Amino acid sequence: MTGNREESRGEAPGLTIGADWAVTAALDEPRRRWAVRVVDGLIDDSGPVGKMQARYPGDDFSDGSGCVLLPGFVNSHVHLYGVLAHGVPAPAVPVADFWSFLDDYWWPLVENALDHEMVAAAAAWVTADLAAGGTTGFFDILEAPNALPDALFAQREAVASSGLRAVLSFEATERMGAASGQAGLDENVRFIEACRAQPAGGSTGGGARPADGSTGGGRVSGAMCIHTTFTCGEPFIRQAFDAAADLDVFCHAHVNEGVHEGRWCTEHHGMRTLEFYDRIGVASPRFQASQCVQLSPREIDIIAESGIRVSHMPLSNCEVGGGIAPVLELLERGVTVGLGSDGYLNDMFAVMRGAFLLHRAATLDPGAISAATVLHLATEGSARTLGLERVGRLEPGWHADLQLVDLEGPGGLPTPVEAHNLLDQLVLWRSASHVRNVMVGGDWIVDGGEVIGADMDELRAHTLEQAARLWS
Ligand SMILES: [Zn+2]
Repeated sequence: MTGNREESRGEAPGLTIGADWAVTAALDEPRRRWAVRVVDGLIDDSGPVGKMQARYPGDDFSDGSGCVLLPGFVNSHVHLYGVLAHGVPAPAVPVADFWSFLDDYWWPLVENALDHEMVAAAAAWVTADLAAGGTTGFFDILEAPNALPDALFAQREAVASSGLRAVLSFEATERMGAASGQAGLDENVRFIEACRAQPAGGSTGGGARPADGSTGGGRVSGAMCIHTTFTCGEPFIRQAFDAAADLDVFCHAHVNEGVHEGRWCTEHHGMRTLEFYDRIGVASPRFQASQCVQLSPREIDIIAESGIRVSHMPLSNCEVGGGIAPVLELLERGVTVGLGSDGYLNDMFAVMRGAFLLHRAATLDPGAISAATVLHLATEGSARTLGLERVGRLEPGWHADLQLVDLEGPGGLPTPVEAHNLLDQLVLWRSASHVRNVMVGGDWIVDGGEVIGADMDELRAHTLEQAARLWS
C-alpha cells in the first residue's frame, strides 16, 4: 500500500484511495475502478479512478488494485471479555437449560470471576482482531460485577489505542443485589461523562496508536445498558432509561434471546417482555434491543411502532439454541436492524454469511435475503442502531471508515468479479483473512493485513495468560 497521510500533510490536502471496485453504500450498485478522496477524516469526493487522479494531482494516492473498497463493518453487539471463555471447561454438572447455563456456568465461572487485568487483555486482543477483519466500529457490553467500579475504564485504554470507533457499556443487573445493580448504572453514567469530558480514541492524524499514548478525537463513547427483565426490576429499568434520556444516549438490553424470557415475563408480569417494556414506558428509539429472537406478533408490532432498534446475532443465536430471529419481518416493517457477533465469531464475513444462509433456510426461499441486505445490516444498519451518524457509507460528508478487501491476492477468487456478483463474492467467499487495509476516521489502522502498532504475538500471549487465570 502506498500513500501515507502523515508524510504528505502540508503538501497534499487529501488522500485518494482507488480500487478495482467500490461499494459506496451496500444497497447501491457497485462501481468499477472507483476512488474516494479522504480529507480530515471524512469522505470528500468520489469518482472513477482516472478522473479522481486528474482532479486531485496533489493528493497522495493509495492503490487498491485487486481489491474492493467498501465501508468498514460495524459490529453492533460484542462482549470483548467473551474471548476468555472460548473453550472454558464445562461445569461438572451438565447444563440442563438456559437458566442452568447462566446460574451454574456463565455467571459464576465467567462473569463473576473477571477482573480489570482480564478485561483489559481481552479488549486489546479482540479490538486488534476486529480491526484485522475489517471492523471499524463496535458496541461492547461488559458484565463483570466483581470488577466494579472502573471496569469500563480498565477497557478504555486498549479500546482507544485500537483506533476503532466504539461505544462501551456495562451491563447493569440486580442479580447480585441492589448495591451491585446501582454500581453498574453508576459505572455507565461516569463513563459516558468521562468520555465527553476527556475524549479518548482516534489520533489527530497519522497512525491510530500514537507512541506517546496520547489520545484525541474521541472515538470512544458510552451508553446505558441493563441485562434483562428477569434480572432487573421495574424501578431499576426505569432508572436506566431515565439516565439514558438525561445523557442523550441509547439504553441496551438483551431481549428474548430464547424462549425463556418471554415465558418468565408472562409468569411474573402477565405479559411478554416487550409488552412489559412498552407498559413501563421505555419502548422508544432510545432502546437498542439485542437478540429479539423469540417475538410474538404483538412484540413485533411494538418494535415497529415504537422505533426500538434491533441488533441481530445469527451465529450466536444458533450456538445457544435460541432460534431464528424474525429479521425479515422486522425489516419489512421498517425496523432499524444491525448485525453483531455477540462475542462468538468476530469475523463479520462469517456473521453476514450466517444471516444470509439462516433466513433462506428458515423461509425455504433462496431469494429471501440478498448479499446487499446483509452487507447493509453489517455497515449502515449497525451504525444506525448505535446512533453513529454518517457511518456506514463512503459518500461525501460521511466518516472515512473503510476497508480494502482482496479479491485477487493469496486465496484469490477463482471466478470473474462482475457488478452482478460482487456482493455475493464478498459475502459468500471472502473472510476476515482477505482484508488488506482498514481506515477509521482517516487513519489507517490495518496496512497489508497487519494491525498497525499491535504486536499480535504479545497480545495473544497476554490473553492466554489471563484466560488461564480465569479458568483456574
Ligand atoms: Zn450478548
